[in-house]
Amino acid sequence: MPELSNATIDLLTKLRETAARADKILIGAGAGLSASAGLSYFDEKAFKKYFPEMYRFGYHCEYELVGRRDDEWSVGRKWAYWATHINYVRNIFPSAPLYKTLLSWLEGRDWFVVTSNADRQFYRAGFPMERVFEFQGHYDNMGCSKNCCGKTWNSLEPLTHVLENIDHDTFECRPEALPRCPYCGELADIVFRGENYRAERQRYIDFVDSSEDKKLLLIEFGVGFNTPGVIRWPFERITAAIPNARLFRVNRGYLDYPGHEGYPEVPPELAGKACGIACDAAEAINYLAENM
Ligand SMILES: [Zn+2]
Repeated sequence: MPELSNATIDLLTKLRETAARADKILIGAGAGLSASAGLSYFDEKAFKKYFPEMYRFGYHCEYELVGRRDDEWSVGRKWAYWATHINYVRNIFPSAPLYKTLLSWLEGRDWFVVTSNADRQFYRAGFPMERVFEFQGHYDNMGCSKNCCGKTWNSLEPLTHVLENIDHDTFECRPEALPRCPYCGELADIVFRGENYRAERQRYIDFVDSSEDKKLLLIEFGVGFNTPGVIRWPFERITAAIPNARLFRVNRGYLDYPGHEGYPEVPPELAGKACGIACDAAEAINYLAENM
């Protein structure tokens, strides 16, 4: 990793000092945090290795396949892809040490995490999940494609069964191995948000509500513009609304467009309450952990 500039170190020092004075810390974690830990949906090398069939069919990275509608591919292909993708994210890619470093830095503080990531890295790193809200749900939740009864169940076992039943010439799951709803027999789906989602969201709301008259520090790690309504915009609103809130936006700039610091940028309305730090999430977290 490149050396941090003096300006960046000054800002990280300011972040560290603000954390020392804060009553509460709210972390917002985006795809940039997992990318910084090595898990990137734009990683062509990993894609070629773990999705050789899809690579052969002309795709180059996982992000090209995010958000596909069911009518864009066969049900067999959809499940072959999901099972391979989730197996890569959940089982092949290891639990990243960077998350454990963040957890150790938070120890002894009053904190909460909201994340847009579905990859379960917080869970795997040992974060107490009653302090983590996975806003967009996660890959371990399987449900009924017809939502017959609102139940969800763990996807691990059905996906392992799919993995064992992929025809690698067509890259399709054999019809008899497609995951089905145990309650009605219809096809299952990865539903992301489990049946306890509302209760999980309420814990996040309660944490923010309990911060109204407190010194609240908000830190974003790797939150970009793919889903700004999940963390980026709410964090700006919370910072504006709470008198003693401070926001630090840790993100890399537009690396391809030098001079445009679009990702760490903060709105001028938050002047004096917010600042952007143009560096990688790993650089910032490691700096904080090494300079307690
Ligand atoms: Zn069902």
